[in-house]
Amino acid sequence: MCRYYAFQHACAHTALAFAAFCPPAALRQNPCGERHIWQTIRLDEPCEDCCRHAAVVR
Ligand SMILES: [Zn+2]
Ligand SMILES: [Zn+2]
Repeated sequence: MCRYYAFQHACAHTALAFAAFCPPAALRQNPCGERHIWQTIRLDEPCEDCCRHAAVVR
């Protein structure tokens, strides 16, 4: 399983960002498709989608 960061936004949405290959995936230099959340990072801002949505509403 490859490692991913999970970015937890203020709007409760979570975005995954690739962090590191697992050994079999490293050989191919290609993520294996199985995602393991390595670290969850909390962000004070809403995600891009919510920012865009908020801009339209305003
Ligand atoms: Zn993997
Ligand atoms: Zn959001």
